[in-house]
Amino acid sequence: MTIYRNMRTIPTCVILLLVVTCRHVQAEDTEPKVEDFGTVIGIDLGTTYSCVGVYRKGHVEIIPNEQGNRITPSYVAFTPEGERLIGDAAKNQLTTNPENTIFDVKRLIGRPWNDKSVQHDIQYYPFKVINKNNRPYVKVKVGSGDKVFSPEEISAMVLSKMKEIAETYLGKNVTHAVVTVPAYFNDAQRRATKDAGTIAGLNILRLINEPTAASIAYGLDKSEGEKNILVFDLGGGTFDVSILTIDHGVFEVLATNGDTHLGGEDFDQRVMEFFIKLYKKKTKRNLHEDSRAIQKLRREVEKAKRALSSQHQTRVEIESLMGGHDFSEVLTRAKLEELNLDLFKSTLKPVKSALEDGNMKTTDIQDIVLVGGSTRIPKIQQLVKEFFGGREPSKGINPDEAIAYGAAVQGGVLGSDEDNKTPDLLILDVNSMSLGIETIGGVMSKIISRNTAIPTKKTQQFTTTEDDQDVMEVLVYEGERAMTKDNHILGKFDLKGIPPAERGEPQIDVTFEIDVNGILTVTAEDIGTGNKNNIVIQNDENRLSPAEMEKMIQDAEEFAEEDRKVKEKTDARNELDTYVYSLRNQINDKNKLGAKLSAGDKSTIEKVVADSIKWLDSHEDASVEEYQKQKTELEEVVKPIMNKLYTASGDGKKEDDSSHLHEDL
Ligand code: AMP
Repeated sequence: MTIYRNMRTIPTCVILLLVVTCRHVQAEDTEPKVEDFGTVIGIDLGTTYSCVGVYRKGHVEIIPNEQGNRITPSYVAFTPEGERLIGDAAKNQLTTNPENTIFDVKRLIGRPWNDKSVQHDIQYYPFKVINKNNRPYVKVKVGSGDKVFSPEEISAMVLSKMKEIAETYLGKNVTHAVVTVPAYFNDAQRRATKDAGTIAGLNILRLINEPTAASIAYGLDKSEGEKNILVFDLGGGTFDVSILTIDHGVFEVLATNGDTHLGGEDFDQRVMEFFIKLYKKKTKRNLHEDSRAIQKLRREVEKAKRALSSQHQTRVEIESLMGGHDFSEVLTRAKLEELNLDLFKSTLKPVKSALEDGNMKTTDIQDIVLVGGSTRIPKIQQLVKEFFGGREPSKGINPDEAIAYGAAVQGGVLGSDEDNKTPDLLILDVNSMSLGIETIGGVMSKIISRNTAIPTKKTQQFTTTEDDQDVMEVLVYEGERAMTKDNHILGKFDLKGIPPAERGEPQIDVTFEIDVNGILTVTAEDIGTGNKNNIVIQNDENRLSPAEMEKMIQDAEEFAEEDRKVKEKTDARNELDTYVYSLRNQINDKNKLGAKLSAGDKSTIEKVVADSIKWLDSHEDASVEEYQKQKTELEEVVKPIMNKLYTASGDGKKEDDSSHLHEDL
């Protein structure tokens, strides 16, 4: 029997049940196939890029964005004109608007302000990050005023972009999604990601672990018997390792490990620091003082790093980087490796830990699967290969799309569609961190160890530490360290009404249960009285309050409305623009209207076309109504001429309208 921590008597309040969402969190009301969710898309919400896929007609389709790109930068920007940009458009203007271009929020989400990694990262961001209620928020200029956004809101903007990409492609509304998270994301990071979905108007039916998703992409069409695979997933900001067995569509995760703060951006940062020092030595200028210059350098360094995956040397060149001084330096693959060798090597520690947890040797792994953009780095590939005794990692799965692919397959399992052939697959995942309660002296008493297959239920007995102690405070933690102060608190509750007894006599059962949906329920029961009660979560410090969430949902809707208005305006302008220029081309084309119109009619149309072009040039920012009015006025001149022309040519088309004209044009 474990001795419980010393308790004070505290005032009674009625509390019933503690429900803490946990790893592999699934929507509380989710019961696959009972409710019809329609098409459920799969989203890889990456630190640097996001990717969306859908399972249709028996296979996965990765969906391109409006630029035709299959991955979309996880970037959001606010322009001086007050416009919001998401994805490629936001990333493309980073160097001209660095203070208002936000990226990397996956590194901030669900973390408290005083988190070491938050404090480290914010030194390098060109945008402002401020402390609000001990959580990091970004501060940007929106139009003429300042506005602060939580990481959840920014992630919600990226999610809504991915939703929109899917909706455009599918031609219908999408409301449900499977979203991937690093296996090593803790409870707060997972819940914050789910909250981002809610703000975006997207019900995240399930969060699945990125390496597990990647293994689905790898293993789906491999039906040879049982196999152990190790997924090595090194992206822009996070590193995950998972060991799974795959056997005829059953994916069982045996162990998972990683580092939520290691990836390509850290490699870029090492090169940046090297160049910044070099530049200072040569020009006496400190690039840290110029955030635009820093962003330009960052962009070029990242390009150079990518290039060095296929060549041995490259030149980083930036014209007048700072104060008119150009930047031109050679970067070799050897230098890149030298600057990053300790980081590259640090990826092997989680691999070792995962093997130990899975009770395996390197030779027990049949396939090593590399996922994430940073696994293209030859030195990383070499280190992994050497670690596994010279065995080549598997190639042939697209490291940029594998995770979204897996999420889309899981979406196919949960969703329904008229032409949807549900994939035949079962995922058996594990919890990635140990769960327990605090006992006397601040000790972490583990109740469920990490890498335990879920669903699971475990009970341990505890007792009082004082005579006549009538209340017991239960503090629930996750983490691997021996002392709770080094772990992460999930919540706390009180068990009250313990009858007077000598210390050590009462028997209190504490039960941790993670159900198939990944929801953790903690109950405490006084065996003597059968009293089972008093549980509430008081873990709001790291999480948005319901009122904050509500406000953010409203803001997101307002933004969507503004975006819609901007789009309407752009569409109205484009419509007029297309009409005017098509008319001009037609009357200038001797094979078309140019030959058929009388000289008088031709010059009438020429004049109104010229006027309209002038009007368009001087009305860059007119309203929808003004564009429409301008088009109507133009049509009023053009239509009678066109009708006359058709009547004269006797082709029976009496009525002219603009669509008629467009067909003709
Ligand atoms: P992901 O999060 O999986 O999209 O990975 C993005 C990271 O992969 C970024 O840090 C990229 O710079 C990096 N990356 C992409 N392609 C390459 C490449 N060819 N060589 C090295 N790093 C790359």
